[in-house]
Amino acid sequence: MNQVLVLGAGQLARMMALAGAPLNINVIAYDVTTTNVVHPLTQQCQSLSLIEAIAAADVITAEFEHIPDAILSLCAASGKFKPHPDAIKAGGDRRIEKNLLNNAQVANAPYHIINSRADLDAAITAIGLPLVLKSALGGYDGKGQWRLKTHDQIESVWNEMAQCIAASDNQAIVAEKFIGFDREVSLIGARNAKGDIKTYTLSENVHTDGVLSLSTAIVGDSTLQQQAQQMFTAVAKQLNYIGVLALEFFEVNGQLLVNEIAPRVHNSGHWTQQGAETCQFENHLRAVCNLPLGGTDLIRPSAMINILGQDSIPEAVLALENCHVHWYGKEKRDGRKMGHINVCAATPEQLQYQLMLLGQILPPQYFPALPH
Ligand code: ATP
Ligand code: MG
Ligand code: MG
Repeated sequence: MNQVLVLGAGQLARMMALAGAPLNINVIAYDVTTTNVVHPLTQQCQSLSLIEAIAAADVITAEFEHIPDAILSLCAASGKFKPHPDAIKAGGDRRIEKNLLNNAQVANAPYHIINSRADLDAAITAIGLPLVLKSALGGYDGKGQWRLKTHDQIESVWNEMAQCIAASDNQAIVAEKFIGFDREVSLIGARNAKGDIKTYTLSENVHTDGVLSLSTAIVGDSTLQQQAQQMFTAVAKQLNYIGVLALEFFEVNGQLLVNEIAPRVHNSGHWTQQGAETCQFENHLRAVCNLPLGGTDLIRPSAMINILGQDSIPEAVLALENCHVHWYGKEKRDGRKMGHINVCAATPEQLQYQLMLLGQILPPQYFPALPH
């Protein structure tokens, strides 16, 4: 029996717990917000302090990158934390992330770091408009971002950015060139302590209002797949990475630029639960527990639709063949990631047909990325 402590007690820890059970891997979670050690499926508090949970764990890992430094250091000091805390920091601070990408020599958007109004002017001069401005710390689901398109918006955008910089220690803004991408894709892969790497099939991702809504495995684009794998390998090696790592890309004229990394299992890889030989949650646990990695081959064309802000969907979804619903057991809140639907088919054309059927069942206002 392996005991794994996950920092963060959301849906990713929950799905790790579900994937770990058949391998006799027991997952408990530390809720960084409430500071409780909880069971990841029931959210029930365990009678364990964090210190005791660290002592009881064989391995410690994380389901998100915004972990308070003190907690990360405490876990790292036990020698049990995987991946290396530097990987978590690179995922949580866009300044470190940009350095990492450049050191790994993978293409990414030109950027400029902003701490002051003069820095903003310098960013505009260096990169030009439009700019995408992102808080260096704490951003996710498109939160903490601004778009600066024209010169007359500079004052109002700067006012908001200045407030953001002042609101927390060590905060800054990363200004990026706006990339007019053809589409967004991501690559998820696992690397173990020996340096073996297995990557999944690329995902094509559609975001709505900064939040992922649809991911589809890209069947049969070996050129793009190879390009992504080469960039994945460069970043994973640079971090001496152990575990599952996700790279988000912009695709422009067949060339990939890395948008950001996620040092963890990733929303765009949820389709691997039904569409891959071994799902990303199991492979993360295998990697951090020093077990052989499972196969990552695509079994059949697959996609994932996020369920946002809804705690029920029509039963007709379950009546569709090859549709699987995964709820996270969370309290309903507007826009919140409440669950997802995985859908598979024998061919890419049949998968599109299944997505069209789903689009007929599910309301367009909550599922905008589906064909309606
Ligand atoms: P996540 O929830 O994926 O962690 P995040 O809040 O960290 O998201 P990003 O992934 O950096 O934010 O940006 C969110 C979305 O905004 C991207 O998926 C993309 O659609 C758009 N975006 C980000 N940066 C750029 C850019 N430089 N040019 C054009 N669009 C961008
Ligand atoms: Mg992010
Ligand atoms: Mg992102």
